[in-house]
Amino acid sequence: MSRTRHNWTKEQILDIYNTPLMELLYNAATIHRKHHDPNTVQVSTLLSIKTGGCPEDCGYCPQAARYHTNIEGNDLMTVQQVKAQALRAKSSGSSRVCMGAAWRNVKDGEEFDQVLEMVRTINKLDMEVCCTLGMITENQAQRLAEAGLYAYNHNLDSSEEYYKEVISTRGYEDRLETIDNVRKTNVTVCSGGIIGMGEKEEDRAGMLVALSTLNPQPESVPINALVAVEGTPLEDQKPVSIWDMVRMVATTRIVMPETQVRLSAGRTEMTREGQAMCFFAGANSIFAGDKLLTTPNPDVNADMEMFKLLGLNPQKPFIKKMQPETVEAQDSQYQSLGEKPKWSRPEHSIERNEEAKLKAKALK
Ligand code: SF4
Repeated sequence: MSRTRHNWTKEQILDIYNTPLMELLYNAATIHRKHHDPNTVQVSTLLSIKTGGCPEDCGYCPQAARYHTNIEGNDLMTVQQVKAQALRAKSSGSSRVCMGAAWRNVKDGEEFDQVLEMVRTINKLDMEVCCTLGMITENQAQRLAEAGLYAYNHNLDSSEEYYKEVISTRGYEDRLETIDNVRKTNVTVCSGGIIGMGEKEEDRAGMLVALSTLNPQPESVPINALVAVEGTPLEDQKPVSIWDMVRMVATTRIVMPETQVRLSAGRTEMTREGQAMCFFAGANSIFAGDKLLTTPNPDVNADMEMFKLLGLNPQKPFIKKMQPETVEAQDSQYQSLGEKPKWSRPEHSIERNEEAKLKAKALK
């Protein structure tokens, strides 16, 4: 029987986060070893299947159409393009392909049908398939599950309180509802956040409360360090220190012992020693490939060298959960409902987002 706790409080999590570092590392590594092979790290490849032009105002994101960031946008990739990239990722040691589209939410129609076909295609390559497509309804989650989706990513980003300082075009409760919709299927949940956006330690703890009190907890929790991109509202944020990253990873590991803790954006700023400390503290997954959607990431060969140096092995696919079966489009039980859900739009004013928008307008 699992003894995972789902009643962590912010104070308890803050106490863990602020434990003297050597003790924190020891405690996290001990829990990590009880639940995972410490020498195995899961490797995912993140693929931007539709880049840029997003209507949302996420303060950290270069893909938001309203900011001026020199991102080259592209329309939805074809199934063949995605298949070619997935094969390349597989041959370089990735067990999972995560497809990201810069959408507010999924809309039923041709483009979603195309994404479903991508999911079927990659699952048939015996790779785990993950999607991050914005908010989704239960029916859309069921259709993705039927196509053979292994995981759905939808990050909480920060605490509920600080989320309002970063994004005004949708509400925290909609993020939780999307996670809940995914939970109604057999697709696993991937949800985490970003540190270094100007939040307080209380916000980091608040995000971990929101994630760890979900029952079941997410199977995967990405911890990102902000990559401050010029033109975004958060362009002037100082890089987060490695010590904060290690503390965040270790705390996540302690409060979510069975989860896969994913060391995500910001690795280019970290030394190998820093990353090794994160692995020791319980991180057991990375994103491979020289780009994370649009921001830089270490190159695959450099990562494989690091794995060799540290004696780490890439995890094989479907170790944690069986490979889902793929149902072909014509045999589907879940047809498109043509839904038009009303996801919230708080639209409160965030000063730095407004400033970045005005700056972009002036540059046009
Ligand atoms: S994070 Fe996602 S939803 Fe937000 S602006 Fe970027 S692409 Fe759009």
